[in-house]
Parts: sequence; structure tokens; C-alpha cells
Amino acid sequence: MQDQARLVIVGAGIVGCSAAYHLAKLGWRDILVLDQGPLFETGGSTSHAPGLIFQTNGSRLMCQMAQYTVHLLRELTYRDTPCFYEVGSVEVAATPERVTDLYRRQGWATAYGLEAQIISPVEVKRMIPIINEDVVLAGYHVPSDGDARGWYAAAALAHQAMAAGGVAFQGETKVLGLLVEKGRVTGVMTDRGRVTCETVLLCTNIWGPVLGDKLGLPLPLYAVEHQYLISQPLPELAQDRERFVTHPILRHQDKRMYFRQHGDAYGVGSYCHEPRLVSPYTLKKSAIHPFTPGDFDEAHEATNRLLPALKGRKYVTQFNGMFAFTIDGYPVLGESQTTKGVWSAIGIWVTHSGGAGKTIAELMSYGTTEWDIREASIHRFHAHHTTPSYVALRCAQQYREVYDIIHPLQQMENPRHLRLSPYHERLVAQQGVFFENSGWEVAQWYEANERLLVEFSGRIPKRTGWAAKNWSPIQGAEHLATRERVGLFNLTQFTKIEVRGPGALAFLNYMAANQVDQPVGKVVYTALLNQAGGIKADLTITRTGEEQFLVLTGAGGGPHDLAWLRQHAPTDGSVTIEDVTSRYAAVGLWGPLAREVLARVTPDDVGNEAFPYFTARPLTIDSIPAYALRLSYAGELGWEIYAPMEMGLRLWDLLWEAGQPSGLVAVGAGAFNSLRLEKGYRAWGSDIHTEYNPYEAGLGWAIRLKKGDFLGRDALLKVREQGIRRQLCCLTLTEPGAVLLGKEPILAGEKLLGYVTSSDFGYSVGQQIVYGYLPVAYAVPGTQVEVQYFRGRHTATVYHEPLFDAIMQRLKN
Ligand code: FAD
Repeated sequence: MQDQARLVIVGAGIVGCSAAYHLAKLGWRDILVLDQGPLFETGGSTSHAPGLIFQTNGSRLMCQMAQYTVHLLRELTYRDTPCFYEVGSVEVAATPERVTDLYRRQGWATAYGLEAQIISPVEVKRMIPIINEDVVLAGYHVPSDGDARGWYAAAALAHQAMAAGGVAFQGETKVLGLLVEKGRVTGVMTDRGRVTCETVLLCTNIWGPVLGDKLGLPLPLYAVEHQYLISQPLPELAQDRERFVTHPILRHQDKRMYFRQHGDAYGVGSYCHEPRLVSPYTLKKSAIHPFTPGDFDEAHEATNRLLPALKGRKYVTQFNGMFAFTIDGYPVLGESQTTKGVWSAIGIWVTHSGGAGKTIAELMSYGTTEWDIREASIHRFHAHHTTPSYVALRCAQQYREVYDIIHPLQQMENPRHLRLSPYHERLVAQQGVFFENSGWEVAQWYEANERLLVEFSGRIPKRTGWAAKNWSPIQGAEHLATRERVGLFNLTQFTKIEVRGPGALAFLNYMAANQVDQPVGKVVYTALLNQAGGIKADLTITRTGEEQFLVLTGAGGGPHDLAWLRQHAPTDGSVTIEDVTSRYAAVGLWGPLAREVLARVTPDDVGNEAFPYFTARPLTIDSIPAYALRLSYAGELGWEIYAPMEMGLRLWDLLWEAGQPSGLVAVGAGAFNSLRLEKGYRAWGSDIHTEYNPYEAGLGWAIRLKKGDFLGRDALLKVREQGIRRQLCCLTLTEPGAVLLGKEPILAGEKLLGYVTSSDFGYSVGQQIVYGYLPVAYAVPGTQVEVQYFRGRHTATVYHEPLFDAIMQRLKN
């Protein structure tokens, strides 16, 4: 066996083969792919997957990866056999709620450029003649979906990779561990000896955590058993005996099942049982466990009702196959932070294998990717996300919910109460309705504020149905109380990062697109860009000392931003990066009366001259040595106030008491969102991410091209030269009472222009605000477009932004 390579890929399932193929395409040579099983029917999940590819997904990334997979596989053959059969798909609805949800799915598909239609039960029957149309209220049809021959596709990709040259595959070779020196991988140890290499890519799927754990690289996924059966031949399909599949693949999500034709037989896949998790440490070489008949009872009944042709038929093949479920349903892509040169591409379905292979190859080659991979990044996890009990609970729940109708604001039930602010009891006393954010309990609104509705309800449109779920008119009241008086916001969940050392300034100024070289006490809002000029992060950087900076970012973005900073930090010890989130409690005190409230608890001068906008400084609040920043994502006069965590409760109580004469109320995250949208403040992850550059995102004002070199500058210079083709726009809906929740397609007639990146009601401006990227020809105030929402369409008009306080009068005085 070869004992040296530049790159070793562990795993020759469809993901390992797709990665090898894409890396070879990008010019990588000297790649060795190892698998413990025989090539290419290795015994892994790919060998057992029936290969249904449904591209529709609420996640734009997952839909992009699936569309690319179809595009890749439809060209492939192996042993003169196609690797993909583009027979289309049908998802049937058996309940009115599901019918409605099919329209939502069709909205996602349209938004992401995938053709899909809602069809009648009669049309469903025409496409799948053996179906009982009495069960079906409506169908959802995607013509380009279909069925892949999983391991054939893996083999075809492997052969193309080998044909490119410099790629070798070796079966029956188990990788026992990785060799590491001084924090860098140097090779792998196998049961056939050692292979030295510079880089290792783990495509080990359900076995993933075994090698990861040895390196201290937690890969939070579980193998879950999943039932698959194939019937005896059906006389109704005798004419298809020699064919692979002709019927569209079929989903019956109300019963958590799917089906596909196997020539003259039918395959049945079921999630309709309690999750059966399998520890990666107990796995043998095959991703198959014995069938558990008791788990199939309910599914059996549902099958007989939907496909009566299967009633009374035997199942000649039946097994519990295993594949990976991660804690949030997304893959785990990227490089380990602890061991340089170790990469992961796990937790991926056949459906996304092409796109995932392309993405990991781009990441390994350039450090950037065509698509925003935030949801699938290996750097998205907080410490609690990778603890064994959390992983087991969440992976099981992902299995249970795989076909559920999930509201965009639906909250996880378990585990909760992991991270609490020090004044949590006060928030409970205000009857906070808590949402989970990165493990933190953050109130979305406070029921105690219901009394505000007497004053404000006339300005808060009623909501019904889907839009009213996980929403309360109290959010509107809290919003208006902030604008008219003053609100106290819980911000303890913010990620706080301290960057210090003699090299800190130069380092941060290279990472940031704005000018960080400022006097002590100055706050800077900036984007961090990647090499391609895409927005990797947006955050504030405050110079707290000559060689010390406080970087503040959101809870969800925190791990990404920390990893990004650490990845680029000098290794000569001149810069220290420390996550100090757990050290400080934080609150926001915002509203026109914020100054009078703060002045009651501090001897310091908080007047506009002494404490101007976008500055920061230590502030004594009673006996609390706090640190305050004068800025506001809510767009109001006020401060973010940071205090030692153990003094957070006292901080809350002092401000609360001082605020009562001014009408201060606790304000939740729901109001925070509508406040920021009125001011046009972008939200990382939805409005801005790596697929957009700051000029497209309307953040050109925070770029300092003249300050010297910084990450992404060259790319921005090119953008400036070439101009932009799309722009983030602010729109409002014309129809009173119309609501959007995000991700809906924006259209001009039948032409897709973009999708909704954020939407909420602006209670101060009395409009439903919509943000989305539009081609520049449409990004003109006054232009009318349409937004599809379930079955209907709303008219939207492009407006100058921001809608509220464009001259910054409220913030700067
Ligand atoms: P695998 O195919 O499991 O490959 C991982 C490889 O790593 C294995 O070959 C293994 O031998 C090797 N390996 C692991 N550890 C080591 C080691 N230490 N040394 C050497 N080699 C190692 N997906 C869909 O998209 N659509 C479907 O309809 C679908 N249905 C499914 C139904 C069933 C019953 C099953 C089991 C899966 C299904 N899936 C489906 C999921 C899909 O099959 C998998 O998610 C996908 O095949 C994973 O590909 P992979 O390459 O990551 O993993």
C-alpha cells in the first residue's frame, strides 16, 4: 500500500468520492482515499440508500447543494448504467395543514430557482397509478427530483477522479487514528501501516465521532437506525420489471414515510418510529442492523392505505439501515480548530453529496465557497452543543421531526435552561416568553407588558393563522414603548471577545474592512470579509486600551467569528484572543428617556458631549464597575452596558428601579427585530453573509479602502471596478395586514428577482417591512414587485431606507 500522500480522504462513500472528484477538478493531486470496506460497495450508508433526491429545503444552502447534486449526477454513468433517474417527485398532503405547507415549500423552491408545482389528487394518480387518491388532498411535484443509484454514483465519481490523475483508492483499509505533531496532522495509522500526509479529510459519516474524539474534535452526530423495505413483485407493475424506476419518488410526510419503485416492486422507507440511536463506537463495518418489525406497525397500516397494491404483499427485503443525524440536521464541513490539516465532511445525505463535495473542495482550496456555508460550518457549535447528552437528545429529535411542519419561530423543547442571564428571575417575574438562542434563554416578549396594549393596540395590526404563531401583539407594544419612552433589553447572550497584545491593532485592522486604528474609547462598526470580499461577519470593535479591543457580536455568530479570528491570528504570540462571554452580563438601555434613567444611577456625565455617539468608556453604576457603549441596534438613544456577570442582577435592579418614573419596561427580542428593521440594520445570516459583498449589502459606508491592506480588499477593488448587479433593498407591502416571515420569493410577473431576507412589521412607521436583494434595475425607489406568500401574492414597493430616523437625530443627540 502507498505510504505517502498529500491528502488522505477517509471514507469512500458518496461523500468521500464526491470530495475526491471535486478536489481533483480543482487541481489537487496525490490524493489517497481509504475505506475499511470493499470498493465501492463499502458497507457504509451509501451502499444501502434507496437514493431518493428531494431537492426542496427551507435552507437555501441545502437546496443549492441538492440542485447541484442533481446537475452532477444526471451526467454520470457507471457500468453503462445511469446514476440518476430524473423521474420527478410527488409529496402528498393528507391534512389541510400539510396542503398549506406544500405551498410554503413551493415558495422556497421558487425563491431558490427550483421548478415546482402544486398538483391535484387526479394528477398525482396519473403520475403514480397505484396510489389511493382518496388519501390525498393535494400533491407537490418537482420534475427534476429523482432517484440516484448511490454507490454507482460514488464509483462513477471515483473513476472520474482517478482519470484526472493523482487520485488513488484503497479498500479494506481501516484508519485507526491520526498522527499529529505540534498541532498539525502528519499522517494516518491504518491496520495496514502508516501513511504520511499533510492533510486528512474525514468522510466517515456515522463513524465520524470515533476518529474525531481521538483528536479532541467533537463531531456532534449519531447513527440512527432507519427502516427500509422492498416488496415482492407487484402484478400492477409487471411492465416495469426490467426498469429501475419510472414512477416519481413519493413522500407521505403526514405519516413520516417515503416510497420508490424498484422495477416491479416498491420500496418503503419509514421514520414512523421512535429514534433508535446507535453509538458510533459500537458500529461494525456495515451500516445495517436487523429489522425490528414492531417498529413498522403504524407505517405498515399507512402504506396499505396509501398504496393498496402493497396490501397483503410480502416484503422480501427489510432492514434497519443507518445514517447520520447531526444536532441541527446540517452537515459538518470545515477544518478543525485544534488540529491543523484535519477536515470534516460528514452528516451528509446522498441528496447533498455533490454540493457538499464541491463546497469542501472549495474551502480546502481557497478558504472561500460559492455558497454561504454558515449553517453547515464546523465552527457553528457552542461548547454545550457537543456534550454527549445534548448530542443524543438533539439527534434523536432531528429524526423525529424530519418530516414535521416546523414554524420558523418554533422553539426546541429540550434541553432548555442551559444558559441563563444573572437576572433571569427578573425576566421570569415579567412573564417572559422565552426563546432559545445558542443555549441562552432570551425572552421574545414579556406577558407582563400586556397592559401596554391599552395604549398601543391601535397601532398593532392583528395577525391570524401561521403568522400569529410564536408572535404576540405585545412585541408591538414593547417596540412603541421603546420609541416613546425607554426599554431595558437583555443582551447577556451577546458574544464578547477580547483581543489584546502588541499585534492586536495591526491584526484587527487587517481583519476588518473599516478603520480600527482609533483612539481608546472609540467604537467601530465593521464587516469582516473573506478573500472574495463576501461578508464573513459584522460586529463592533471597541478600542478599550492601547493594545486591547473588545469585539462584540451576536450569540449565533460568536463561534464562527471566534474561529475566523483565531484562524487568521499571528502565531508569534503577539495577539491573544479570548472568549469572555461568560465573564460579562449585558443590558441595553434604549429610548428617548434612556439618558435620564442612566443619570439617576451614575455619578458620571452621560451628556452628549461627555459621552458621544459611538464611544465607550468605564461607567460607575452605583457600586458596579461597568463599561458602556453608546450605540443602539434599536436605533434609539442609549447604551449597551456590560458588568461583571455576578453583578448583572444588581445592574438590572438598579436600572429597573431608576427607570420606573420614566415608564421603563423590559423589552424582548421580538421588538428588537422590528426596531432594527425600521432602522435598516442588517442581520447577519439572513440579510448579509458570504454570498454578498458590502456594496451589494449597502454597507459601503463602513469600508475604508484607503486605510491600507485588509482581508478582502483586492476583491472589493474589483467589485468597485466592475460595479454591482444586485442590491439589498427595503420594500414595504401595499396591502394592510399582509405579513411575511422570510425566505419568500420576490417576483416581477414570473421572473424571479430574489427572496425575502428579513421581514417584520414596523410598528412606528406602520408598514410591513421587507428586505431582499434585487437586480439593480429594480433597486429603484417606487419600483413595484410582488412577493409570493403561500397561495397568494402581495405587492411590494421599493423605498429609500431607512424608514425610520434617516437623519439619525434620535441616536446622535
Ligand atoms: P458512507 O456511505 O457511510 O461512507 C462512509 C465511509 O467511511 C464508509 O464506506 C466507511 O466504511 C468508511 N469509514 C468509516 N470509518 C472508517 C475508518 N476508520 N477507516 C476507513 N474507512 C472508514 N439519503 C438520501 O439522500 N436519500 C435517501 O433516500 C436516503 N435514504 C436512505 C435510506 C437508508 C436505509 C440509509 C441507510 C440511508 C439513506 N440515506 C438517504 C442517507 C445516505 O445514504 C447517507 O447520508 C449518505 O450515503 C452518506 O454518505 P457518506 O459517504 O457520508 O457515508
